[in-house]
Amino acid sequence: MTTYQIGVLNGDGIGPEIVGATIEIFKTAVRKFEMGVEWIELPMGWDGIKKYNDPLPDITKKALASCDGWILGPHDSAAYPEKYKSKRNPSGELRHTLDLYANIRPSKTMPGIKSLVGEVDLVIYRENTEGFYADRNMYVGTGEWKVTPEVVLSTGVFTKKAAMRIAHAAFKMAMKRKKKVTIVHKANVITLGMGLFLDTCREVALQYPNVTVDDYHIDAMAAHLVRRAKDFDVIVTENMFGDILSDLAGELVGSLGLSPSINTNDRQAMAQAAHGSAPDIAGKNKANPIGMILSTVMLMEWLSQYHKDEKLYELGKLVETAVFSVLEDKICTRDLGGNATTSEFTRAIINNIEKASVSIKTR
Ligand code: ATP
Repeated sequence: MTTYQIGVLNGDGIGPEIVGATIEIFKTAVRKFEMGVEWIELPMGWDGIKKYNDPLPDITKKALASCDGWILGPHDSAAYPEKYKSKRNPSGELRHTLDLYANIRPSKTMPGIKSLVGEVDLVIYRENTEGFYADRNMYVGTGEWKVTPEVVLSTGVFTKKAAMRIAHAAFKMAMKRKKKVTIVHKANVITLGMGLFLDTCREVALQYPNVTVDDYHIDAMAAHLVRRAKDFDVIVTENMFGDILSDLAGELVGSLGLSPSINTNDRQAMAQAAHGSAPDIAGKNKANPIGMILSTVMLMEWLSQYHKDEKLYELGKLVETAVFSVLEDKICTRDLGGNATTSEFTRAIINNIEKASVSIKTR
């Protein structure tokens, strides 16, 4: 029996509560499938600072290098002491150093959750290593320079290599979905950088003749998402546009707190909920763990494909179905208008998993 090594990075704020809930749920599901998964807890955030004087200590980075994947809780880097603020935050550092170039962020209507834009099922492929994120663009330094107290230069970097690989990832996914890709850019203003991104995506599109392609400027796309989100399927865009657009899409279909994501470099994947560490409700048993749980479902689906192991896919589906069934029963945490605590909500999901009968289908 293969044993998968999954890193567990609890992080700050509500991190330990939502990551803890996720692990408890997945441990129950793993037992059902009689699978081998080793959950390896690693320091990150305040835990890393206290033990190793580093929010992302070397011991964690080294251990992750041999993990099949990992679960990254949120971090409260804005609250870290000044000396850590000039460095990339833990999530940025992992994306940069491990070259996790594709941030895949689906937005889909969920049972029992009110969507502002009707039935939607889209996925954003966000380039994760360069673009307008200045701190991702340098070998050393933050990518920003203060020329005078009132003038700052921030670097944006666009390379053909990065555009090409995120475009291929998006088009491959489109082939499994509705065969439609929308490229989002601002090539009318950032003519060279965004022009290169757009032209490269169009060049890649030629290798996928069955996929319909269109493109929009980021500002127009924000309006189109609000007006007719259901018309979109796979969206590919640069780093910062992808970050903003996916928050918008997540909120449109219900709540940003429900939005899952994974980051991948084709060899490993990192599950990461789209929301932050919510320090205002940390430790109060109020956090909604859905974003973290569904990110881990995505991680299992990714691992299933990578290792050609159908059990991992079924494991993810079992958990996803259990979450949706709890929502259908109108059991919700407070952010969704319910009154279930994090532990009550988690227990309800576990009860569903324990009741379910499992079988492995071949797709
Ligand atoms: P970051 O900059 O780290 O992404 P942020 O400052 O944008 O974080 P969040 O930490 O995501 O913000 O919190 C924004 C609001 O959403 C807060 O009121 C927080 O309590 C709420 N929130 C975020 N995540 C959750 C969750 N999982 N469950 C319930 N409420 C949440």
